[in-house]
Amino acid sequence: MIVKDICMYCGACAGVCPTNAIQVQELTVVVDDDTCTKCGICVKACPIDALELE
Ligand code: SF4
Ligand code: SF4
Repeated sequence: MIVKDICMYCGACAGVCPTNAIQVQELTVVVDDDTCTKCGICVKACPIDALELE
C-alpha cells in the first residue's frame, strides 16, 4: 500500500478495513501486509484518494 503525503490521518480507511490491517496513529498510517487482502475498500473510502494499491 502506498500512503501519499496528502494523507490527513482522518482514520476513515482504518474504520472500513474488514481485516483491521490499517492502524492510523498520530502522524502515521501503518498497513500490515500480512493481514491486508488488497480488497481495495480503504482506497475507495479515503476522501482525498491518498491510498494506492501496489
Ligand atoms: S482515509 Fe485517507 S486521509 Fe484518511 S487516514 Fe486513511 S489514507 Fe489518510
Ligand atoms: S486493501 Fe482491504 S484489507 Fe487491505 S488495508 Fe485496505 S481495506 Fe484493509
